[in-house]
Amino acid sequence: MTTAAVAVPSAPGSLIIGPGPGGITGDTASLTWAQFTAGLRDYERTGMCTYPIRLKGRITAVDLATGEARPVYDTTTEPDGVLLKACGNRREHVCPACSQVYKRDARELVRAGLSGGKGIPGTITTHPCVFATFTAPSFGPVHSRRMRGKTILPCRPRRDARVRVCPHGRDISCPRRHAPDDPRLGRALCPDCYDYQAAVLFNLHAADLWRRFTTYLPRHLARLAGITQKELRSLVRVRYVKVAEYQARGVVHFHAVIRLDAPGDDYSPPHGDFSADFLADAIRQAAAAVSVPVGPDVDHPDCPLLVLRFGDQIDPRPIRHGDDDLPGTGHKLSVQAVANYIAKYATKALDAPGLPERPLRSLNDLRDLRCSRHYQHMIRTAWDLGGGKLSPARTRLCRWAHMLGYGGHFLTKSRRYSTTFGILRRARSEHRKRQRHPDGERDPWGCPLDERIVLILATWAYDGRGYTTTASAELALASVARAREHHDQADDEAA
Ligand SMILES: [Zn+2]
Ligand SMILES: [Zn+2]
Ligand SMILES: [Zn+2]
Repeated sequence: MTTAAVAVPSAPGSLIIGPGPGGITGDTASLTWAQFTAGLRDYERTGMCTYPIRLKGRITAVDLATGEARPVYDTTTEPDGVLLKACGNRREHVCPACSQVYKRDARELVRAGLSGGKGIPGTITTHPCVFATFTAPSFGPVHSRRMRGKTILPCRPRRDARVRVCPHGRDISCPRRHAPDDPRLGRALCPDCYDYQAAVLFNLHAADLWRRFTTYLPRHLARLAGITQKELRSLVRVRYVKVAEYQARGVVHFHAVIRLDAPGDDYSPPHGDFSADFLADAIRQAAAAVSVPVGPDVDHPDCPLLVLRFGDQIDPRPIRHGDDDLPGTGHKLSVQAVANYIAKYATKALDAPGLPERPLRSLNDLRDLRCSRHYQHMIRTAWDLGGGKLSPARTRLCRWAHMLGYGGHFLTKSRRYSTTFGILRRARSEHRKRQRHPDGERDPWGCPLDERIVLILATWAYDGRGYTTTASAELALASVARAREHHDQADDEAA
């Protein structure tokens, strides 16, 4: 299939036209009807998306054996004369419906790697497997909600008056027991004491730290087991899925499920005698050993010399289908709870009010910020360190200033952790197709798929965003609300 036949024009008013009779080349123009309809799945109508893309156009199939053309699809046959395509945005506040689909897939993906299913054998439950949270170190005192069991502790009690005052003369103690929605949470007690540069540089390099950690972990496993790395590679492979989450102070930390498998693609239990506690020890050691040095360079002449590390509260816990609590939540560390926990953060980018959706382009954008002063300070620090005044958008720090410096993905996994988002999406569309064509799908000539080689001519034009009638929009919002209620209920029951 030619990509032109399925690509969605990115700019309003632009037009994408299929190869056309003059554009036929030997290896791209012909395809089976099955191949073509597989590509069509992206055009599945979605009544639930809050802000779908509207397309106008038509598809014609040409039987290459006879030259006969048949219309396959024309948007004029649709009720509003347009085809709606889901926006696919993963951010919850941009499109609740599409982010819910993504979240559900993320949960399935995580769960399959913990308890099997989706092509992963059930024996996966016997593999050593650990849930670990990789936090950042402290960059200065902030308001925080500290818990001991179910008791909320005072934020930062300091009885001695001498240690209550910082070098800038500010009171850096706080006797309050903060509610979970207290807007003060995460804010620096003294902005001058707080190391904003280190905080945004940590965010910028958090993904590098993680990458180094995944390189170090096998070394520490081998050392702990008293074998060489080569011997280790013949026994086990490390597989993981991880999500990034912003803490209230605006610094990312990672939650990860880390598992040991045998080498190979069949998800067999690891050879040799490796326990989850053993894996947890190696994780602790590797996380403590990993560092990323940063300093001034061509792009960041003002960057301080720093060695970035994870904080010391790594706290890896074996997932045992047993009784451990998820850190800080009171939920049991069950397979379901871990899957829900990770899925929750897979769609939750930084949802703080007033944070810009897009990269900053100029100092004006910086002046218009509506978020808390703490986040404004981080954004400005990232912008300035990135040389924003001189060269906007040239450096990674300027590019990611609006995300407080973090430019990495919110969910990453090793290739063989479990299934993939692509496979889950395909399974869903195959399911819909089976519902629509219970007796098997047919091509425009009424023949079974795969029988005929056809040429597809597709013309698509971008018609705008959103629904054309308010009734459809209301319907979409209502169904999202209903679906969310249903899933929240399911989550609560499962957790
Ligand atoms: Zn959407
Ligand atoms: Zn406080
Ligand atoms: Zn101070």
